[in-house]
Amino acid sequence: MTKDAGTIQHLFSGTCIDTPELGKLRIMLNTLLAVNELGRIVALVEGGGGNEGIQTYLTKMGDRAKEVTIHRLGSQEFLFPGLVDTHLHAPQYVFTGTGGDTPLLEWLEKYTFPQESRFKDLNHAQHVYERCVRRLLRNGTTTAAYFATMHVPATKVLADTMLRLGQRGWVGKVCMDANSPAFLRETHKEALEGTREIVSYIQSLDTPLLRPCVTPRFAISCADETLRSLGNLASTMSLPVQSHLSENKGECEAVRQLFPNHANYTDVYHETGLLGPSTVMAHCIHLSQEEKKVIKATGTGISHCPGSNFSLRSGILNVRSLLQQNIPVGLGTDVSGGYGTSIMGTMREAITASRLLHALSEERGEKETLESLTLEEVLYLATLGGAGIMGLAKEVGSFEVGKSLDVLRVNLGADLGGGDVAVDTFGQDGPREKLEKWVNLGDDRTLTHVWVSGKLVHTTLENEAGTRIKA
Ligand SMILES: [Zn+2]
Repeated sequence: MTKDAGTIQHLFSGTCIDTPELGKLRIMLNTLLAVNELGRIVALVEGGGGNEGIQTYLTKMGDRAKEVTIHRLGSQEFLFPGLVDTHLHAPQYVFTGTGGDTPLLEWLEKYTFPQESRFKDLNHAQHVYERCVRRLLRNGTTTAAYFATMHVPATKVLADTMLRLGQRGWVGKVCMDANSPAFLRETHKEALEGTREIVSYIQSLDTPLLRPCVTPRFAISCADETLRSLGNLASTMSLPVQSHLSENKGECEAVRQLFPNHANYTDVYHETGLLGPSTVMAHCIHLSQEEKKVIKATGTGISHCPGSNFSLRSGILNVRSLLQQNIPVGLGTDVSGGYGTSIMGTMREAITASRLLHALSEERGEKETLESLTLEEVLYLATLGGAGIMGLAKEVGSFEVGKSLDVLRVNLGADLGGGDVAVDTFGQDGPREKLEKWVNLGDDRTLTHVWVSGKLVHTTLENEAGTRIKA
């Protein structure tokens, strides 16, 4: 597959692996991948990655051939689409890895709200957001859907930081004008005006990488009229929406009491105009079948955050049942509900969660035991599935001509010094086993290069660090 080349900037030759649809793994050996100056894939030729293929391409380019960077992958290397984190809170990066000792509502009071209130201090915001975005890029997260805090200036800092470091994603100013502590509560007017200000600020940055996102924290934190106004704003300005839904049973009960006129939790968002194909709802663990029907009918996407759900003891989402109903799902770290910051860890947690559900259904003697998620399925959720619920399936998530080069160069043989490498492989390991070992045993040390939109945004190789986007 090729397309008018334009000016080629990168030629890759080696193994490319992706999941072009749910449950389908595509391993393309000895492949030639050409990327133009706009960071778009213009050729993908399976089997065309040998010297001859590269030479043919360079000859076609004539004088411009010298501008091309050639990347020849070794036998322990492959290219994989950048990972998509569909739900996390950038300000909570400060205390990620700590505080897993309480369920959700207590956890918010004890850790989250006091920490988020510190983001009125812009120096603090700058420091934390820089560390957070850099860590995610190092982990291979090329696209992220961020909740910031309710503070408008700090939310602008998050957008600026993502743009400067080259990460793609959504940025949401959190709205919270009800049932929140006095030190972290805004008025209805501030929630609306603040959201509008962030929308126009991000639009003024004029970048295809960032989208402002309407972000009510969750139903409990917003008055009914605020949810309604935000729903209205999202639909009139065609903005994406993100929030939390049905994470924890205590939360579900609180919503039932606060919104007695609504049929259920999902209806609170549906009736206020916040559900739709550009909406991502995190968790959705305790939905009734009736609620799932509404989620499906509206095209709302679900962010599955198993690490967070384990840590806060929220429950286990039955992903298999959602997939069987064709409800779109992506993965989220939910920094810092869980202790992880990497979608690689979330993939492992998603597999473990599904195996646990399988074991429990077997133990209960259910007639039809729940089928666990496969490696192919979680890889899809971590890439194209996540891209899909963020409206980016035509842009990123797999190798297709015309898509953006949001890609990881994975090297299982990355040198750790002292004769050790990132992941040990043996002669019997073929490409699929190597991929499986990467998911189960790999970490950021395997990710030698991370590109977003054709730009190098992270590398572990010192001699190439000078070519990445300047921090
Ligand atoms: Zn969350």
